[in-house]
Amino acid sequence: MEVLEVSSGGVVLTYSHANNKIHINLSALPHENQTVIFKIKYKGEPQDGLIIGKNKYGDRGFFGDNWPDRAHHWLPVVDHPFDKSSVDFSINAPLHYSVVANGIKVEESFISEKRKLTRWHEEVPIPVKVMVVGIARFATELAGKVDGIPVESWVYPQNKAEGFYDYAVATRVLDFFHTHVGPYSYKKLANVQSKTRWGGLENANTIFYYENSITGKGQAESLIAHEEAHQWFGNSVTEQDWHHVWLSEGFATYFAGLYLEHTYGHDRLVAEAANQRKQVIDYFHKNPGSVLDTTITDLAKLLTTNTYQRAGWVLHMLRHEVGDLTFWKGIQKYYLLIKMEMP
Ligand SMILES: [Zn+2]
Repeated sequence: MEVLEVSSGGVVLTYSHANNKIHINLSALPHENQTVIFKIKYKGEPQDGLIIGKNKYGDRGFFGDNWPDRAHHWLPVVDHPFDKSSVDFSINAPLHYSVVANGIKVEESFISEKRKLTRWHEEVPIPVKVMVVGIARFATELAGKVDGIPVESWVYPQNKAEGFYDYAVATRVLDFFHTHVGPYSYKKLANVQSKTRWGGLENANTIFYYENSITGKGQAESLIAHEEAHQWFGNSVTEQDWHHVWLSEGFATYFAGLYLEHTYGHDRLVAEAANQRKQVIDYFHKNPGSVLDTTITDLAKLLTTNTYQRAGWVLHMLRHEVGDLTFWKGIQKYYLLIKMEMP
């Protein structure tokens, strides 16, 4: 990306841009201890972080895909989970695209014969790893509302019947977490078919799923449950540093299981847990290690059986140790306390 100008309060600042970092010279600014707002103008086609290309039906689209630290390829940010903020996106795009992003849509205006402006506003501070836009041909449906929160499906028009069917279960999932863990933090939940490189990416209230998550057979339910659990654990309650990723992935893994238990009965969780137990043991024989490994600096090594299944098992064992009632009370308290302490 090419940086065109850096300014603050109308004062143009000097800067250097190299190795994915912008160094801004602050000597032209007052030195008092105050909040400074920078305006950074830049252009180009990002190398990564924003996936631009054709989907499986040959339609072009643009999908943010930041995890873990790929956001800085297209957004000028401190690319770390501790740095949370509100975010606004204003997208000027050709008319045939629909635009989805974090938060609520505050404007959609035709600005010429061929283009329109769409603005989304997220007021709740969210980590950079889950800030996104999705720009594509979409079919959209309101799947339902949970406690007044709209749950939307955004899918490719070519598979809209299957997509609307598969993603509609998201309302039932939202209801479970909203009721059992604590109030949902955001004003909408969109489930979006996308070009994410992951199976699903829990972007704040704008979850992206891989293209083939849609089959028309309701096979995405546990994936949806996992990504929705992240809205509480990962997005709302966010790890201070990368190596604490189990607080996000271990919780999402186990809470997807708790949703399935609630919906289909205890045997379903037992089956999931037995399967994951085997994975944990097999993994441990080859890679002894722990759920929390502070020595990990290579972010590609964060997502392991330790941080997903084994961390989920830690929660399962905790529940067994303290009993269901105390477990749920503890989870609710943990969620609310940590959330109150965070930005
Ligand atoms: Zn996850």
